[in-house]
Amino acid sequence: MTTIADSLQAIQANIHAALLHANRQHKVQLLAVSKSQPAEKLREAYQNGQALFGENYVQEATNKQQQLRDLDIEWHFIGPIQSNKTQLIAKHFDWVHSVDRLKIAQRLSDARPSTLAPLNICIQINSSFEATKSGADLAEAAQLAAAINQLPHLKLRGVMSIPAPANDYETQRAQFKIVSDTFSSLQKQGFILDTLSIGMSDDYVAAIHEGATIVRIGSALFGARSAASTQ
Ligand SMILES: *Cc1c(COP(=O)(O)O)cnc(C)c1O
Repeated sequence: MTTIADSLQAIQANIHAALLHANRQHKVQLLAVSKSQPAEKLREAYQNGQALFGENYVQEATNKQQQLRDLDIEWHFIGPIQSNKTQLIAKHFDWVHSVDRLKIAQRLSDARPSTLAPLNICIQINSSFEATKSGADLAEAAQLAAAINQLPHLKLRGVMSIPAPANDYETQRAQFKIVSDTFSSLQKQGFILDTLSIGMSDDYVAAIHEGATIVRIGSALFGARSAASTQ
């Protein structure tokens, strides 16, 4: 049976190989996406050196945080954000990757306790070719970035995206290139950004070739989620 320790080691080796192959020098952090996984599995990953965990559902996350409060975990919120959840997110997370509108950014800043460091923020970018997908386009992202920089309890770090699933490597690269181009355009406009949050279990190698600095990996690390538990 493959253990979490084995999977962690294999993923880190793949990340390292992709960086070498892409001839890139930057660091890539592994965010362990632990939605639907019980707290014991997070603890096991932590005991094997994994300190960054990503969660999609606030209630599920705060339950696990309670069970794991003896560990020094960096918690990332990566799911869709309803405005009635911003209070809890602002109090219980270190990062939020999925900010795509100003109202949510304002509410997160208002609710962030001033005893805590500013909440690290990524703007969610639309990277598919369909106009209907959620996430900001370049013009919206620039406006949102400027607004976030004015909010006292937020720290703008970069952009995040969830492209439409694609089986072939070239399509994966093309979709991630849209995101990395948006990231570079924002930097050229003067925004100070250090985080490009792209890549999941099936496409993180392509994402690293396009400059990912955080890859968000769930099933390749913890095994498949059962359909019932992803609700
Ligand atoms: C679930 C999820 C992931 C991880 O997906 P896997 O395919 O299991 O690696 C990454 N990012 C977001 C936003 C997710 O919701």
